[in-house]
Amino acid sequence: MSNVLRATLLSLVGSLNLGCASPGPPAATAAPSTPVMPADLVITAGVVRTMDPGKPRAEAVAVRGERIVFVGSAADTKAFVGPGTRVVELPGRAVVPGLVDGHAHLYGLGVALETLSVRGTRSAEEAAALVAEAAKARPRGEWITGRGWDQNLWPGAAFPTHAPLDTVAPEHPVALRRVDGHALWANAAAMRAAGVGRGTQDPPGGRVLRDAAGEPTGVFVDNAMGLVEARIPGDPPAVRERRILRAAEEALSSGLTGVHEMGIDDETAAVYRALAAAGRLPIRVHAYLAGEGRLEGLSGRAPDVDATGTAMFVLRGVKLFADGALGSRGAALLEPYADEPSTSGLLLMDREALARAARLVADAGFQLAVHAIGDRANRAVLDAFEALGPGRAAALRFRVEHAQILSPDDLPRFSALGAIASMQPTHATSDMAWAPARLGAHRLRGAYAWRSLRASGARLVFGSDFPVEEVSPLLGLHAAVTRQDLSGQPPGGWMPAERLDLDEALLAFTAAPAYAAWAEGQRGRIAPGYVADLTVLGRDLSPDRSLVDTPIEMVVVGGRVARAPAAR
Ligand SMILES: [Zn+2]
Repeated sequence: MSNVLRATLLSLVGSLNLGCASPGPPAATAAPSTPVMPADLVITAGVVRTMDPGKPRAEAVAVRGERIVFVGSAADTKAFVGPGTRVVELPGRAVVPGLVDGHAHLYGLGVALETLSVRGTRSAEEAAALVAEAAKARPRGEWITGRGWDQNLWPGAAFPTHAPLDTVAPEHPVALRRVDGHALWANAAAMRAAGVGRGTQDPPGGRVLRDAAGEPTGVFVDNAMGLVEARIPGDPPAVRERRILRAAEEALSSGLTGVHEMGIDDETAAVYRALAAAGRLPIRVHAYLAGEGRLEGLSGRAPDVDATGTAMFVLRGVKLFADGALGSRGAALLEPYADEPSTSGLLLMDREALARAARLVADAGFQLAVHAIGDRANRAVLDAFEALGPGRAAALRFRVEHAQILSPDDLPRFSALGAIASMQPTHATSDMAWAPARLGAHRLRGAYAWRSLRASGARLVFGSDFPVEEVSPLLGLHAAVTRQDLSGQPPGGWMPAERLDLDEALLAFTAAPAYAAWAEGQRGRIAPGYVADLTVLGRDLSPDRSLVDTPIEMVVVGGRVARAPAAR
C-alpha cells in the first residue's frame, strides 16, 4: 500500500473514531486474532496516559508510518511486532500525547539563544573574550549583537572603547547594549558598516562619545544608538534557519512535539516553510503572523489548511496586542492600579481598531489571537469578537492570549463566544509576588482564573510564552496543579481554588492545543488513527514538585523517533 493511501485510510479511521460518541473502544483497539501488518515502532511502558476518555490508560502503543495503529496491553501489542519493527521497552516510564506549547516564541528563543550575554563581566577584556567565542561560531561579516555590560563593574569604571572588540573580532561588526539598554558599545567594523566617523553629528537626544581628536570611541548613548543599530541588516534566511533549528532542538529536548508560534514575519515564515518542505523541521509549528501592519494585505492571501494533521508548519493565524504587561503597569485595567492610582494602563489598540481588525481577519478566514492582560483589554477583545455576529469567533477559533485578569462579568463570555483562553500557568507563579499589590484583593478573583474559566465551559490552552519563561512544559504542569513556586511557596498554593488536576492540565497541553490548531481527531490523544506524536517521561506524573524534574525519556513526532531513549 502506498504511504499516501495508507495515511488516507488511517486518517479516515481517525476521524471515524473521533466522530464516534459512544465510549466503547473502536474496533481497531481489540486484540487482533488474525495476523496483522507489523508496526514500525512499538513502545511498551509503565503507563500510557492516552487522554482518550474511552480508554484512559494502557501499557503499549504500536505505530505504523505516521500514525498510531494500536493502543492496549503489552501482551496484545506483541501481535504487531514483525522482523522490521523497532521495539522500545521502557518499564516504569510514562507515555503521554506529544506535549504542545500553546503560546511560545520559537524563533524568539532562537534569537535569544544567539544573543550574546556579557552580563556580569569584570572587565572590557572579559566581555571581549566572550565576543571572540561568538566570532568563531559565525561567518566573517555577520553581525554579533549582545547585551549586559556595565562599566561600573570594571576597573576604573570608565566607558570602554572599540579597541578590545577590534582585537577579537576585526571582521565581524559587533554591537553590544549596556545592561540598562541605554548605551551601545560598537567595534570599528560596526562603525564602518554604519558609516559613522568623525563627521557624524550627535542626533537629538543622543550622544556619540569621542576622543580628544573628535573620533568616535565606540560608545553611543540613547538616541545615538540608532546610528549603528539602524544599519544592522535584516537576518538572512540562513541565520533564521539556524536559529529555528537550535530553538526546535531545545523544545524537543524539553519534551515538546509542537508549538504555537505567536507572531512571526513573512521572512521567518518562509524559512519555516522551506524547512518543513525539506523534512528538516523536527517539531510541529502552528504559526501566527505578527502585527497590525499585515491586516491590509490579508484579504489577498489564504490561510494554510492541514486536513490530515500531519503538516509540520501551518500558517493560519494573526497575532495582535490589545495592551501591555502587568509588571510595567501597561496592562489596561477597568479601574486604576491599586499601587499607582494615577494610571489604569493603556489599550494599544482602541475598541474600534480591535473591532475592525477582528473583522478583517475573520473575512480573510484567518484565526485571530489577541494578547490581552488587563480586564479592560480582555473586555475590549471579547466585545470585538462578539461584534462579528453569533458563532463567528467560535467557528474561526479566535483566541485570547493570556486572558490574565478578567472581570467576573466577562468570565462566562469565553464559553458563550467560543473564544479560546490561551493561558500560561507559570505567569501566575512568576507574578504572584507582586500581582496582588497591582490589582488589590477584589480584582484577584478574576486573575489567572483557570478553574473558574474551565468551570464556565471555556476551552483552556496552556503554554509558557518562552523565552519569557522557561521552555519546559513540566514547569507549566507543575504551576497549573500546585500554584506554587519551585520552593513550594506559598503553602497550599496561591488562590488554590484555581488549581487544576493533572489530567485537566495535561489536556491543556495536548488535546486543547490540537483543537486550537484544527487538529482535534488527529492529534492530542493516543488512540488508533491519531498521529503518533508522543512524549515519553522517565516516570509517571504525579501532581507535585516531582513533576519539574521528571526526565524526558523519548520524543516521537509523526511516528519518527525525534529524540531517542536515554542510554541506560
Ligand atoms: Zn507571547
